[in-house]
Amino acid sequence: MPERGRYINLMTHTPHLPPVDGGWPELLPGWVWLVGAGPGDPGLMTLHALNALSQADVIIYDALVDRRILDWAPPGAAVEYAGKRGGKPSPKQRDISLRLIELARAGQRVLRLKGGDPFIFGRGGEEGQALVQAGIPIRIVPGITAGVAGLAYAGIPATHREVNQAVTFFTGHDASGEAPGALDWVALAKSSPVLVGYMAIKTLPSIAASLIAAGRSADEPVAIISDATLPSMRVLETTLGRAAEDLAASGLEPPAILCIGRVVLMRQVLDWIGQMAGEAPRDLDPLGSDARRDAG
Ligand code: SAH
Repeated sequence: MPERGRYINLMTHTPHLPPVDGGWPELLPGWVWLVGAGPGDPGLMTLHALNALSQADVIIYDALVDRRILDWAPPGAAVEYAGKRGGKPSPKQRDISLRLIELARAGQRVLRLKGGDPFIFGRGGEEGQALVQAGIPIRIVPGITAGVAGLAYAGIPATHREVNQAVTFFTGHDASGEAPGALDWVALAKSSPVLVGYMAIKTLPSIAASLIAAGRSADEPVAIISDATLPSMRVLETTLGRAAEDLAASGLEPPAILCIGRVVLMRQVLDWIGQMAGEAPRDLDPLGSDARRDAG
């Protein structure tokens, strides 16, 4: 039997990564870099993010940034929390932007570290705009977003040739943090065969009901992935019609990503984490592609 899931020491296996052309960018005093930390697993940070982290004087991080990433901060760097956390009073977006401006003006090398990608439902656009308006130079370091990596860790491809030629990211909260009243459900339902929902767990019952009312099938496969890419990751497989009930029974908690569409079935063959733990694939051809190809 092949060995499953062994781990190596990256540094001893790659003792001298060759330098990139032109070198790595330097985080200069008075600058703010808006950096994506990826969805959780520290290995999903980019090399640019790691380069930024190694140079920062101050790191202002969000609720969804994994603790182990902050442990990589250089000794002496100040690490400040600025994010939203259920139940506790959260700093206003304006206050966060003002803090970034204040630190940059004081000549600090400022790293604004955000979960996933800073420009995907991360308010990176607002913070970047406030900084530029204040005359602060910025750099954007994109990150791997939960709506792609979270699915991948569950064995679900966000696009699959037989299923979808488009994918839609949507948020279950509007700017006020309330139910997504402003969403055009008919347009969303028609937008693409695969819908990926961020911040969509609290409002899932109304999301599912609205999509069904707008024409999506109640039988459509759904996956809800909580703590995606982390050791505590859990995956609920259900259907659009049963999603609200199954979610309530499962006890799954945010953060969780919602995936609606037939790509969810691919998990039956691609659940690589389950396979590392010794589980057999449930179905080697869950979409029946082989049969269709043979017939054609
Ligand atoms: N900028 C982030 C998204 C911030 S919005 C990104 O690009 O990923 C916060 C939402 O992201 C959460 O409510 C959840 O839907 C999703 N999310 C972020 N990290 C997650 C994780 N590890 N597991 C599941 N969902 C996650």
